[in-house]
Amino acid sequence: MQLSAEYSSNKKSFKLTIKGIVQGVGFRPFVYQLATKYHLGGIVSNNGSGVLVIIEGKEKEIEFFLRDLVSNNPSLSRIDSLEKEQIELQNRTTFEIIESNSGSISTMLSPDISLCSDCLAEMKDKNNRRYAYPFINCTNCGPRYSIINNLPYDRKNTSMKSFAMCKECQKEYNNPNDRRYHAQPISCYRCGPKLKYISLFGDEEQDGQKAIEKICSLIKEGEVVAIKGIGGFHVVCDATNNDAVASLRKNKHRPTKPLAVMFKNITAIKKFASLKKEDEALILSKERPIVIVAKKENTLLSEFIAPNIDRIGVFLPYTPLHELLLHKLNLPIVATSANLSGEPIILDENEIFKKMPFVTSHLLTYNREIVNACDDSVVQSTFYDRITLRMARGYAPYSMHLEKRASKKILALGANQKVSIALAFDDNVIISPHIGDLGSIESNEYFFKALATLKRVYNFEPEVIVCDKHPRYETTHFAKEYALKHPNVSMIELQHHYAHALAAMAEYALDEDVLAFCFDGTGYGDDGNLWGGEVMLASTQTYKRVCHFKELSLLGGEKAVKEPKRVALSLLFNTFSLDEILQMKSINGKLFNENEIKTLYQMYERGINAPMTSSLGRVFDGVYALSGYRDNISYEGESGLILESVSLKSKTKATYSYDIKDGVIDYTPMILEILKENNKADIAKKFILTVSKIVIDISSQYPKLPVVLSGGVFQNKILVAEITKIFHKMGRKYYIQNKTPLNDGGISLGQVYFALNQKDN
Ligand code: ZN
Ligand code: ZN
Ligand code: FE
Repeated sequence: MQLSAEYSSNKKSFKLTIKGIVQGVGFRPFVYQLATKYHLGGIVSNNGSGVLVIIEGKEKEIEFFLRDLVSNNPSLSRIDSLEKEQIELQNRTTFEIIESNSGSISTMLSPDISLCSDCLAEMKDKNNRRYAYPFINCTNCGPRYSIINNLPYDRKNTSMKSFAMCKECQKEYNNPNDRRYHAQPISCYRCGPKLKYISLFGDEEQDGQKAIEKICSLIKEGEVVAIKGIGGFHVVCDATNNDAVASLRKNKHRPTKPLAVMFKNITAIKKFASLKKEDEALILSKERPIVIVAKKENTLLSEFIAPNIDRIGVFLPYTPLHELLLHKLNLPIVATSANLSGEPIILDENEIFKKMPFVTSHLLTYNREIVNACDDSVVQSTFYDRITLRMARGYAPYSMHLEKRASKKILALGANQKVSIALAFDDNVIISPHIGDLGSIESNEYFFKALATLKRVYNFEPEVIVCDKHPRYETTHFAKEYALKHPNVSMIELQHHYAHALAAMAEYALDEDVLAFCFDGTGYGDDGNLWGGEVMLASTQTYKRVCHFKELSLLGGEKAVKEPKRVALSLLFNTFSLDEILQMKSINGKLFNENEIKTLYQMYERGINAPMTSSLGRVFDGVYALSGYRDNISYEGESGLILESVSLKSKTKATYSYDIKDGVIDYTPMILEILKENNKADIAKKFILTVSKIVIDISSQYPKLPVVLSGGVFQNKILVAEITKIFHKMGRKYYIQNKTPLNDGGISLGQVYFALNQKDN
């Protein structure tokens, strides 16, 4: 009896409730192995909100168990909260994993994860049964979001369901001590998906290793090919072959937008790019994003990869198939999403030849269905963290836990470009991967498919729906239609730039007054004009527009967005008389001829097809053209990137003059000064420093408020570095999004955060 008393006094039993990314990431076997290591009894199971553990044994050992649980948890898992509650002893001596039961589902859907080092080592090992196997994976790596139909994350709910496991795979799958315990996409040569090479001409088909060899030899010969990745097809060619890259650009109608390049390894990247250690960390991170880094000059890389700019998007192989291809090729390859301009990434091999027969006649594919499309993520390093330009594969679906619980289910639809969808329920916020620009039938379909997946997986029917105020955004139409069909659903239309500010506030869970600089291309303003150079006093409840850039007119509407010289002329119309402009030799005869200037002046004066905008993005365009660049731009932000690149050649620390009167930031003095200059690099540098000075000067008028920087203009590294350097010196509190996109990709997050903070929600 004495022994038993001593025994039980020493023993305790606890119930642990763990929330976060804890399903489908090897968490239960990890708990099992840990419990076994410390001779503890109990159970572990998935439940609706995460993982439930009953742990029983000696107190000291439970302590060790808990320590390891939080410090050594699997690389893909993330513990957001751990509740521990002592319960009555249950005399459990063995530890068991309980099968998952579906129920109320609020646990997190995991993004696709790049090949892990263990699988890579096995893939390179001639004696391993998965030697050179293009679909090797384990609980720490492999596809997730792209193959999932439903939660819980079980094989039967994924596109692996059509591949029956062979005996050996099944054994690994069932063994809690195996790295592949419950790895849903587990497979091998015997039971898994198969590779296939297909030619447009239908004359050749190759399987397996031969298919890889065939596609590699085509790439080496300078052909453009299509390869099925994890979330869609890539269009691929030799990145050192000018003809191949030029042909890809021409046939894909993509004249200048930079192309991402995949390299065999980090050493290979360093031959072509100058990496800071922050860049290197991002490139090697398990999410394997495309990282925008500084391009080296005079390398073997084709000049058409990233024309006119000083940087390049690089990434490493992230699937076993990419690993095999790059190893065999030993060359950097262009790997860009297979899509037509304005359309989403292609998932289906039949679509490749149907939609882009002029781009490629060859494809490497496999027979595992991609359920949910997902593009590559794009990020750039900053000295403090990263800036997310596109949040997709590896990062998204992105989940956040917020203090504020949603009492209603909230759906936010984003803007119209770089659209993402955000959901809020209970204490979760989920952001979808980047969907892209809406407008075409295909991209709208893609949007609805992504929405359907999220609704199905999270068993989510919205009670509140949030959209932009823009009356002509596709997402606004969807929201209005939805609200009409569902009279119980309430609808919120939120101002675009306020949503930018709220996105940053959401990432940092701010619930206080802030001074927000919301600088972007365009968004619909409360006065019906296009906004984009806004300074706001904002809280989670409301905002006040305290300052904005002086309005200019977009001569010809959308046309002005593609032709920066129209914006330059508009800036001049704001400053000079028509006669004065006709006298300017740098304009008349160079940017436009006399008749063009006269016609555009009429447009300007009468306000016909000349919407007004306070967009700073457009001022960038105007300065780009005034400094001597005459070319049209072919992608959003191009003028800013080129100005940023050329500014690096200038050492000046000078700024231009400007005025602020009645809340209007008037840059007319700057325009006058720019016209007297002729060094592009100096103009670019001084302009960027001027924008920084404007931010600092306005901030000084509100010394007590934290500053928020949001909107696509803050993708400009030099601008952000300058502002934040000064804020650091001043000890000023500021916030800029790192983990979520600060361009329009973050609008849905801002929208959801607003709704979440309203009293009734
Ligand atoms: Zn692995
Ligand atoms: Zn197998
Ligand atoms: Fe925006």
